[in-house]
Amino acid sequence: MRGLRHLMKNCIHQSQRSSIIQTVRFFTSDSAKPYSLPNNAWGRNRACRLELACAYRGLDKLELNEGVCNHLTAMAPAADGQGEVMLVFPYGQHWSEVQASSILGVDSNGSTVEGEGRPETTAACIHLGIRKVNPDAKIIMHTHQPWATAMGCLEDPSMKMVHQNSTRFFQRVAYDTSYSGLANAIEEGERLGHLLGDKDMLVMGNHGVLAVAKTIAMAFDHLYFFERAAQVQMLAMSTGEKVRLISKEQSESGCKTFWEDLQMYADVHFYSMYRRLRNISPDFEL
Ligand SMILES: [Zn+2]
Repeated sequence: MRGLRHLMKNCIHQSQRSSIIQTVRFFTSDSAKPYSLPNNAWGRNRACRLELACAYRGLDKLELNEGVCNHLTAMAPAADGQGEVMLVFPYGQHWSEVQASSILGVDSNGSTVEGEGRPETTAACIHLGIRKVNPDAKIIMHTHQPWATAMGCLEDPSMKMVHQNSTRFFQRVAYDTSYSGLANAIEEGERLGHLLGDKDMLVMGNHGVLAVAKTIAMAFDHLYFFERAAQVQMLAMSTGEKVRLISKEQSESGCKTFWEDLQMYADVHFYSMYRRLRNISPDFEL
């Protein structure tokens, strides 16, 4: 089985390498990319913008966003080579309109240092606050995606091991059951950061969800599969029938198996969306 996975991985990479150049950057894995850029500060900043724009557009296609709210951020090298910036879309733009060049770079105070506009207040407060607690949270994605958000509105908001996809998140989810209104202060982001701890997902009760990862592809993949797992759970529960759960041992084993190659799975998924967007709305790369 393991041999087959590695064979698949090599085949995928070799087929992609014929037309694209491999680049290595810290917000992404070392897999082959559908873009080619110089490996300097500007190029790394630009690559992060391309991937983040793809995530905004892709999650919009999957209908996991809400109006012009919700926010995805990534830490990137500043385009001028002076430290890091937090990349985030400007307040008021719809996710379907986001372009690599319209994304803002903001400093640790939330002030815009790259681009025109300003981030939404809650975006700055949640994301900057979490990173004050956990500087390694390079990629943070927050949505009000419907099935996972509905699950978080239940008295018991926990993800149950009802499906293969659920096991990927076994013991990797934190829960906030103390909804405290709109996040208009950085302290609220810090509170969420402490609750999140070393988990990958935070279910924000009566509000939404949040994914944290080291790469944009992984955070995108987390949100997609968390939504699918929540959907199956809610549908199964809504029948009123007793739900058959996967055992703790099998859930633990399934989770371990997923995570052995999860970055590869996430990359294959995310860059398929990148190619899809290039066909149907290529202006995201502008
Ligand atoms: Zn929200």
